[in-house]
Amino acid sequence: MHKRTYLIWLTALNACLFVSNALGQPQPAELELIMVHDDLYVIHNEFVPGNATALITDEGVLLIDDKFERDYSNMVELLRSVTDQPVRFVINTHYHGDHSGSNARFQAAGAEIVSSERARLKMVEFDQSGLPVFTIEDFGRIHIGGKEIELYQFGRAHTDGDVVVYFRDYRLLVAGDLFTYGGATPQLIDYAGGGSAKDWTRTLDRILRLDFDTVIPGHGTVTTRAEMQRFRDSTLDLRNRVQGMVRGGSSRDEVEVMLREVFGWQDLHIARGLDGLMGELR
Ligand SMILES: [Zn+2]
Repeated sequence: MHKRTYLIWLTALNACLFVSNALGQPQPAELELIMVHDDLYVIHNEFVPGNATALITDEGVLLIDDKFERDYSNMVELLRSVTDQPVRFVINTHYHGDHSGSNARFQAAGAEIVSSERARLKMVEFDQSGLPVFTIEDFGRIHIGGKEIELYQFGRAHTDGDVVVYFRDYRLLVAGDLFTYGGATPQLIDYAGGGSAKDWTRTLDRILRLDFDTVIPGHGTVTTRAEMQRFRDSTLDLRNRVQGMVRGGSSRDEVEVMLREVFGWQDLHIARGLDGLMGELR
């Protein structure tokens, strides 16, 4: 494999998929703690970007997504710089290893793991450790430290078990990989994980009915509802273009070229999404 191609592939794989033993032992990411509210922080990393979100209360910390296991110690250290409370809940927005990789470690330290039932089924299927103890179907709430946190599962998109977390009081949404922003913009439709290009737009439309103006994406910087709306439009554009090409008789190679050129798809997106996408839109 050409070296540059390999590097791009490696970066993309790390950015949004499973911990892979075949890749050896990657280094922990350089993490940064960003305050969004006085009690709400994003644990962000720029290179191989990804976000975890922490709500700090005097009844413990609620963490949304917990990165790879290799990032566990650094995450805990960062949290200790703002609270001496333990992590009590970890919500996984979906099953991917860069969002659920530290589950077993947090569980061993006393935290309860929460996800959608579908995400949990995928974790079982892919033999992941630190399985969630609590699961939701469409909706759930967690009450902690006088705060109410709402969890919604609106439908298929990035996977079939994507959960968004809504902080009504802050008009803020934690979107997981239903919405990635900035350098990580390309949609990854994980067909093996039950993802769907057809449903993605409708799922985003349902989310956009919630009243929020700040969005913490699964990857990329903290951003706005307007950017999420633009992303929603791009999911529709992608679907329409691919559908037009497939039904017009374009080849797999032609669709691949278009996805790379117009939507910035990389090898990972092609590998995980192209065949499923063409099959779904045929
Ligand atoms: Zn993901």
